[in-house]
Amino acid sequence: MRNAILAADRAHVWHPYARMAETNSAPEPLVVERAEGSWLIDADGRRYLDAISSWWVAALGHGHPRLVRALAEQSAKLNHTLFAGVTHEPAAMLAQELVEIAPRSKGGPNLSRVFFSDNGSTSVEVALRIALEFSRYRNEARTKVIAVDGAFHGDTLGASTLGALEAFRGPFQQPFELQRVALDGDGSPERIRALLKSDGASVAAVFVEPLVQGAAGMRMHSPQCLRELRDATASAGALFIADEVFTGYGRTGRMWACEHAGVVPDLLCTAKGFTGGMLPMAATLVSSEVFDEFAQGDRRFSYGHSFTGNPLGASVAREVLRVFRDERVIEGIAVREKHVREAFERIGASKNTFNPRTLGMIGAIDLSKSPSYEGELGWRVAALARNEGVFLRPLGDTIYVTPPLNIATADLARLLHVLERSVRAVAG
Ligand SMILES: *Cc1c(COP(=O)(O)O)cnc(C)c1O
Repeated sequence: MRNAILAADRAHVWHPYARMAETNSAPEPLVVERAEGSWLIDADGRRYLDAISSWWVAALGHGHPRLVRALAEQSAKLNHTLFAGVTHEPAAMLAQELVEIAPRSKGGPNLSRVFFSDNGSTSVEVALRIALEFSRYRNEARTKVIAVDGAFHGDTLGASTLGALEAFRGPFQQPFELQRVALDGDGSPERIRALLKSDGASVAAVFVEPLVQGAAGMRMHSPQCLRELRDATASAGALFIADEVFTGYGRTGRMWACEHAGVVPDLLCTAKGFTGGMLPMAATLVSSEVFDEFAQGDRRFSYGHSFTGNPLGASVAREVLRVFRDERVIEGIAVREKHVREAFERIGASKNTFNPRTLGMIGAIDLSKSPSYEGELGWRVAALARNEGVFLRPLGDTIYVTPPLNIATADLARLLHVLERSVRAVAG
């Protein structure tokens, strides 16, 4: 069967983020047959630790029995219905539960509305559309959007336009006016602050991946920087949009990365861990202030995908929240993140490794002084680790781990040990 799968794959599948011409030199795709907890199991019964939670989505590991049960129970009742002029328990109650756990502040506007979509990219696309329409409704000449240099916000045309990495963006013209601004070398947002000060009246929104830019190579900035960005955006009267697609749901050690900085955004995008990695579903949370602008007269927000509010995804997403609570998932990160931190400190002490960095259940290190997304060094580490039963996927010269948040500590120790050995073998 394995060979038949590989043959069909080679003949007919167009894989994401793959060089088409590399079929001979590229590692053979892993033919995964099953997965349980932190483990992927291939067609020959070999087991691999999923060190990157299958592209950062499997926050609770694979096949969590409670999520499997929630899906089965919901699928026996209602699989899908349109969400225009219709509502149902899973999506309505999920919206309420999300609002209850969203970042909040005492005096300020809080996130009180939820728009459902299908994945991280669409959650950003929704936020972008809302931000641009919001400023038009206010008759403000805010046509610009600011994104941070190195940003990745997804692959739809709007979301990828925000992104800074040529490799992800493709050869397209911007459909709106975008200014991408770098954080300063010391990790402060001076340049963005200056721009907001001089030109803030023309800015509709500032998009930020709070604390960690994932796809850029796990680049991190401080809570202080995030707070300063938030304040500068508010002073300019623009919307602050937190893309927590990667950082949300405990990845950084708190439910939301914004919590580390006490920041409440005007809009918040969430996906990936949102369904525990089981189904493609996402949400964009919106403040009442923004929603109220759309709720006047005969205004409408002409947007919504066929599968918006899908009951299967919503039921699983509700169960994810219960599992987080019942199994004290966030609390359990403290002991695990210590292992991650210590391992990367050790690895960072070996030669030809640079800038070890960790936060919550994220650990990353560069294998070159100026790491490139097109670099090969991370791939060499991943190939060695795969032989020892650990599945990694690097960002070029940057190798990182983002294991399931609830990974057994013995499995985590093994994963980090294999990583350390593999990095040393490549870095010398
Ligand atoms: C992955 C990611 C996205 C895109 O999510 P998809 O589900 O792949 O569309 C958007 N923003 C950030 C920060 C991400 O890491």
